[in-house]
Amino acid sequence: MTAKNNIIDGKAFAASLREQVGMLVPAFLEKTGRAPGLAVVLVGDDPASQVYVGSKIKMTRALGMESFEHRLPADTAQEDLNVLVEKLNADDAVDGILVQLPLPDHLDQQEVIDLIDPDKDVDGLTPTSTGRLALGIEGLVPCTPLGSLKLLKDHLGDLSGKDAVVIGRSILVGKPMAQLLLGENCTVTLAHSRTQNLPDVVRRADIVVAAVGRAEMVKGDWLKDGAVVIDVGINRLDPEPGKERGRLVGDVAFAEAAHASAITPVPGGVGPMTIACLLRNTLVAAHRRAGLPDPEGI
Ligand code: NDP
Repeated sequence: MTAKNNIIDGKAFAASLREQVGMLVPAFLEKTGRAPGLAVVLVGDDPASQVYVGSKIKMTRALGMESFEHRLPADTAQEDLNVLVEKLNADDAVDGILVQLPLPDHLDQQEVIDLIDPDKDVDGLTPTSTGRLALGIEGLVPCTPLGSLKLLKDHLGDLSGKDAVVIGRSILVGKPMAQLLLGENCTVTLAHSRTQNLPDVVRRADIVVAAVGRAEMVKGDWLKDGAVVIDVGINRLDPEPGKERGRLVGDVAFAEAAHASAITPVPGGVGPMTIACLLRNTLVAAHRRAGLPDPEGI
């Protein structure tokens, strides 16, 4: 059974955003004599990270942007990784730096993130980017919440005055999502594992963003009629008999959400928006670094 409500097609939206970004690349090239550049750093051989990095590089090149690939062995020393980030900071051809997370256990993730030039911080994870977002001043915003906000605004238009509940308070998704919604004048509740009576908290929301990482935790009867649901979670279920891999599901029980006014599916909802926003952030960073106004419409 599937939800009969309005499906928010993140895959189509992301394809159109990528196309718009791609169309703006030649004008940047003409003005500056170079293409926007994204450097991707991958340490180790985690299979999921390899796949993510591979598709980021492919999509960057497909839009005519420059991709700089740095694959380092799993036993890379902290000092060597730090030196590489400093080199990328100093490299004028690099507009965006993405260090693929998680890093191997022996490396200090925060130490590396802290070194990234905030003007090249296309993942929006440095303390400066986080501070700029909290202050409501120009900066680079983490890609998954930015993509989620774009889907919400496309569906709802003005978000002002809406009651929004974000479940999950990670630095990567929940906290920046709450800040972005606050910036849109929503009344925001940021829920987490210690929140009491979570179903009741969620029930009052016009907008629900679930970023927990627990398969189908948010039940249909937690959602009020007409709510708009952004399901960020990506969870793999145990394989059914005879199948090699389990199905991917979100944090929301999709089949129970027919009374919501709209919901993002998993897969095909927020996921594709993340890479599209990374490319968008790279183009925006390139414009700002070149002293050009922000590109319009993205
Ligand atoms: P984290 O594990 O960093 O954070 C999970 C959050 O959920 C925490 O704040 C935690 O609360 C909260 N939480 C855990 N259990 C409960 C519960 N029972 N009730 C309420 N809150 C709970 O995850 P991420 O934010 O990194 O990712 C969340 C999900 O989004 C994952 O499934 C991930 O795979 C997916 N994701 C998808 C992306 C995409 O591109 N679509 C990108 C990034 C993530 P507390 O802080 O109290 O521990």
